[in-house]
Amino acid sequence: MPVTKERFRQEYITKLELMYGDDAGHTSSLEKYNALVSLVRDYLAQQWKKTRAHYRRTGTKQVYYFSIEFLLGRLLGANLFNLGLTEICREALAELNIDLHELEKIEEDPGLGNGGLGRLAACYLDSMAAKNLPGHGMGIRYRYGLFEQRIIDGYQREFTDDWLMDGFYWDIRKPAEAVEVRFGGRVRIKSNGKTQYIHENYETVLAVPYDVPVAGYRNGLVNTLRLWSAEAKLSDIACHSDESKDCQKAVEFNHAVEEISNILYPDDTTYEGKVLRLKQQYFLVSAGLQSILRNYKEQNGHLKELPQKIAIHINDTHPVLTIPELMRILIDEEKLEWDEAWKITVETISYTNHTILPEALEKWPVDLFKQVLPRIYMIVEEINEGFCRSLWERYPGEWDRISAMAVISYGQVHMAHLAIAGSHSVNGVAALHTEILKHKVMRLFYEFSPEKFNNKTNGVTQRRWLAQCNPPVAALITDTIGAEWIESPQHLIKLKQYVEDSGFQQYLSRAKLQNKVMLAKYIKGKYDISLDINSIFDAHIKRIHAYKRQTLNILHIMDLYNRLKDNPLLDITPRTFIFGGKAASNYHIAKATIKLINSLAQTVNNDKSIHDKIKIIFMENYNVSLAELIIPASDVSEQIPTASYEASGTGNMKFMMNGAVTIGTLDGANIEIKNAVGEENIIVFGLTADEVLQYYRYGGYNPWDVYNSDQRVRTVVEQLINGFLPAGKEVFRDHYDSLLHQGDHFFVLKDFASYVQAQNILEERFRNKARWLKMCACNIAHSGAFSSDRTFSEYAAEIWGVRPQRLGNGNGNRSTGPVN
Ligand SMILES: *Cc1c(COP(=O)(O)O)cnc(C)c1O
Repeated sequence: MPVTKERFRQEYITKLELMYGDDAGHTSSLEKYNALVSLVRDYLAQQWKKTRAHYRRTGTKQVYYFSIEFLLGRLLGANLFNLGLTEICREALAELNIDLHELEKIEEDPGLGNGGLGRLAACYLDSMAAKNLPGHGMGIRYRYGLFEQRIIDGYQREFTDDWLMDGFYWDIRKPAEAVEVRFGGRVRIKSNGKTQYIHENYETVLAVPYDVPVAGYRNGLVNTLRLWSAEAKLSDIACHSDESKDCQKAVEFNHAVEEISNILYPDDTTYEGKVLRLKQQYFLVSAGLQSILRNYKEQNGHLKELPQKIAIHINDTHPVLTIPELMRILIDEEKLEWDEAWKITVETISYTNHTILPEALEKWPVDLFKQVLPRIYMIVEEINEGFCRSLWERYPGEWDRISAMAVISYGQVHMAHLAIAGSHSVNGVAALHTEILKHKVMRLFYEFSPEKFNNKTNGVTQRRWLAQCNPPVAALITDTIGAEWIESPQHLIKLKQYVEDSGFQQYLSRAKLQNKVMLAKYIKGKYDISLDINSIFDAHIKRIHAYKRQTLNILHIMDLYNRLKDNPLLDITPRTFIFGGKAASNYHIAKATIKLINSLAQTVNNDKSIHDKIKIIFMENYNVSLAELIIPASDVSEQIPTASYEASGTGNMKFMMNGAVTIGTLDGANIEIKNAVGEENIIVFGLTADEVLQYYRYGGYNPWDVYNSDQRVRTVVEQLINGFLPAGKEVFRDHYDSLLHQGDHFFVLKDFASYVQAQNILEERFRNKARWLKMCACNIAHSGAFSSDRTFSEYAAEIWGVRPQRLGNGNGNRSTGPVN
């Protein structure tokens, strides 16, 4: 029976009153929100049940996407949207004098991720469900998120991200499906005929799953994101005597266990922190695999067929212990021989590399590893021996090559090497990134097994990142070309024929302006800064990192400000520079960058002499919800990393999809965006990746040359330390030194002139309204290629070998067949 407005209202009232034992008029907003979530979850549950039954009945191959982060964003709007109930719900609530939008805002962003890698995992879940694919997530249910960022006196301050404080009504605790994960202890080898490995004296942690439904777009399919929580076993924490000392110990033990799923990315600068991170990774992997295999064995025959039934994908190296853990289960528990177990493991597992930053390529000290995971370490050693043997056969006598590729070398376990050795597919996340992997960072591995390497350029879901977050533009698109783009983003290309249509352009301009008004209102309310909505909204939102070069943006703004001060009559289009992003809590210079942005904002925003021609806003606590507000309102997308550093980027894709024009370097997916939209619809500048890598290799760049030859550079760099900024002269000394005395590793000064020129071109383009709107429209029209529906269909066909499923029709609000 389809859900009508009438039925929705009835069921909602009943739900609200039953949950809180009072009449609806006496419930709080939070209670109204909770009841709505509970009702929507009921609708999802019906489809969930059907989907699970379908999977069991057909025994179709399942994909499990293991990721240390899932940056989901709010779920209420997304679930209503995917169920096709947004309008029904809005109207039903309106009849009760409840504003859906207000309830949506009550939801905390789940603290389960940090940046692009986590958001990618979330986009893939959405796309897999939308494309009728049996794909599930496996993650950790962190009690606290990374941190909540607040800006105090211009500095980032970190507060506990207590996202679960008011409860989380989307997941379902499944204590009956808990599994045990073992740490520490030692391994006894028993040898009577067949060698057996007996793991003893270990500590047991209970892994309890919480399942979050992941709905497809109006297709009746609901997949599962399974999040694991660490708990102590009841028998381990019970007080056995009356002595309070014992009880005290039990409580302490309980805390130590729960710490495993307490927080995302515990500080790993200490030994204890490192141990905790390794424990976390193994916890996810072991719990996830045990539950997958338990389910598999209930339904299928021999484990030999595992790769035909199950695909496991690891999102970066954090879950790479799936490889030795699967080996452990197959050998120690299922009694398979090594070679057979290895074949199954490699065929089951595939790996995505996300970065070439050396500090992000994970390594663990052997001693620590051995102590925390003694049996897993033995298996890794054996994997290493086998791998080195095969290298030796291929490259006899080439010791240097072999030790550079070994899984264990110089007292460390190299997680990326383990990932490549133990999986059948290794992919990069944009064309350039994959080339750099193949020919530079992972060159030796590529030479050894070229068939494993492939590219899967990232994507973002157009449902969240256009249809939901940008209603005015989404409505315009649907009015113009129909609604197919919501499930098949390649249809967006049909907009091409309207990009010069003045009627269309006017509507687009109006829609963008509506978004700008919304953002301006939010900023006025929160920061008491008034924005000119006709100014260029120029956004640089992403984690704060030296390679992402927020500093380059800042130096350009300083130069622009200097020009205005020199010539108050200078005719520039007013600009609003919007920043947002967190700096890792131990990353000092990135934290100083936040202070730099805020100090410059203080100077510029309060300088009456420039007549509000520049405004700078740092928006605190950047997260998915904030991105959903900023991106639709932006005219310009800042994607300016040092070329070769940004593996792909996904922020760049969200912006183009919303009609912002990119100013960017030729890095990551920016290159593919340029190829898609054409040179005339993007503004590129700066060194290429090849040039950057050449400089690293052969030298030849001296920032002092730029400093000495470019007066503008000299001025802005000196302004960092000469008291120009209201922050004390030493606050930005590290920036100054890194630019001049430490070689300007990220080529900020080198790219300065070219960036300023690009900004001037951009401004010129903006003045020609029709030209600018055409650029915006072309960006939207070509964004279908950057949908995660496309990306992940490639994963499904080329890596996992899974097929779209045919299920009943969702809510009955629309009838569609399966999507192919
Ligand atoms: C998309 C997104 C990112 C990734 O942005 P990049 O610009 O690709 O670094 C990070 N955080 C949030 C909240 C996002 O939505």
